[in-house]
Amino acid sequence: MEFFGALERTEINDVLETGILFRYNHEAQRNNIYKAREFEAEVAKLVGANYAHAVSSGSTAALCAMVAAGIGAGDEVIVPPFTYIATIEAVLMVGALPVFADIDDTLCLSADSIRRAITPRTKGVCLVHMCGQMADMGAIMAVINEHKLVLVEDAGQAMGASYKGVSTGLWGKTGAYSFDFFKIATAGEGGVMVTNDEQAYKHADSFSDHGHDHIGTNRGMEQHPILGFNYRISELHAAVGLVQTRRVPDIIQKNNAHKKQLMATLGAIPGVSFARIPDPDGDSATFLNLLLPDTESAGRVLAELNAAGVGGFNYWFTNMYHFINQWDHIKQMRTASALPIEKFGAPQDYNSLDLPGAQSVIGRLISFGIRASWTTDEVAALAENVGTAIRKAILIEA
Ligand SMILES: *Cc1c(COP(=O)(O)O)cnc(C)c1O
Repeated sequence: MEFFGALERTEINDVLETGILFRYNHEAQRNNIYKAREFEAEVAKLVGANYAHAVSSGSTAALCAMVAAGIGAGDEVIVPPFTYIATIEAVLMVGALPVFADIDDTLCLSADSIRRAITPRTKGVCLVHMCGQMADMGAIMAVINEHKLVLVEDAGQAMGASYKGVSTGLWGKTGAYSFDFFKIATAGEGGVMVTNDEQAYKHADSFSDHGHDHIGTNRGMEQHPILGFNYRISELHAAVGLVQTRRVPDIIQKNNAHKKQLMATLGAIPGVSFARIPDPDGDSATFLNLLLPDTESAGRVLAELNAAGVGGFNYWFTNMYHFINQWDHIKQMRTASALPIEKFGAPQDYNSLDLPGAQSVIGRLISFGIRASWTTDEVAALAENVGTAIRKAILIEA
């Protein structure tokens, strides 16, 4: 969401000049301009995927990822209690049942907790890589493979992150990225599903456009192998998304330099630690994720940060909508219509979940969005200001 310029405008003007804002067909008028296809090619290249399919949002990309992975009615899907709410909604929207497992200091699901949440009805896991960092893939893949679970990755916050050289989104059957306004690259609104499986790709391609098979040049004569819906992206959104995707490697490199500088300074303060990054070389570094000794001291640090106007946010004291403590509608199963939990019943009592990892980590976490455009001096000033707030808040305790 940081950098916009002439490149984005040029790509948008290409679309406006032809007047074809629809991604399919209109071959005669479009002057060979296919921005959605180019956008998909850029994302596939960035992450090393065989296939990428662009849709209207990260939420609909997650939904397509579920469908394309073969997750459906009555299947239990293991999910984290710390994620953007769209992950849980996507599971419900395909008729599946969310089963909450616990997170650890990676901010993501832990392998042990996934193992404990498995039942005979478990079909898969929707793993979410939170706050720009990737989960502990070595341990998690061991459980996935041992129990032959279907893995879907909601990498809405972690496009460009990797573990031992393999990108988010490519560890399981399908993965999803978001291009909403707040993500590392934005199309205004948009999302991309990636996969290395041709069948899964074709499934998503049809599902996201009312089942069209997209074969030939006459839309009116196409076949419809499956039912679907409209989750299409427009050419205008794709035009912005493709330029933004090209900017990602540079942003990640700069973010990492800033994050290292911040961690070196703040890590020297007693009581300060950071969310664990299983492979630091693969961090997208969109956030600095600071951990304090307990929820109480984090609250005091937040108050100091606020008073000094330094920034920093937390998912415990706010209604950021990323943490199960704020999801009363799910706990009370208030769904607008007959979503699956009404028919099948909830697979767990969502009101009495035992999630000690999440309850400990989320209260202690303070995150700071990192901006690639910062200068070294600006980063030093931020480190100084955050450090001052922490020392003040922790001094009160001593
Ligand atoms: C942002 C986000 C989404 C949803 O993306 P939208 O493009 O806003 O629909 C899904 N999952 C995660 C983890 C996200 O951070």
